[in-house]
Amino acid sequence: MHTASLQRAIEICQQKKLRFTTLRQRVFLLMLAQEGAVSAYELLEQLKKYDSSAKPPTIYRALDFLLKHHFIHRIESLNAYLKCDYFGCEHPMQLLICEKCKRVIELSDPVIDNAFSDQAEQSGFKITNKVLEAHGICHNCLYN
Ligand SMILES: [Zn+2]
Ligand SMILES: [Zn+2]
Repeated sequence: MHTASLQRAIEICQQKKLRFTTLRQRVFLLMLAQEGAVSAYELLEQLKKYDSSAKPPTIYRALDFLLKHHFIHRIESLNAYLKCDYFGCEHPMQLLICEKCKRVIELSDPVIDNAFSDQAEQSGFKITNKVLEAHGICHNCLYN
């Protein structure tokens, strides 16, 4: 179902000489199957169907790997995770988060990103961690 994406991820890991273990692949596949925001706890419950011995550190270590190498995103305001539509490289990110269905629209607009950084710079501010997240109601929830 997500074999093409998994294959691409495997190739990226080979190129970067990263250890894409079976567990990491499993968690990546679980992430791909999510429609929107998912918590580490929810992922752990899903992972337990494949590995009943899975514990919180198991899932957090796998998520850390996927985050570090830009395969998924963390949604700071929800303390949750999101599959990346453009995984494999770092990119500007703005998130639109539906409060009703938890669906998340991932934007990757460099103009917004640069404008924000420019404003910070003009204020003499050095950004070390940038989070652009908006909460609201998605199109589906608004008109259904
Ligand atoms: Zn992304
Ligand atoms: Zn919605």
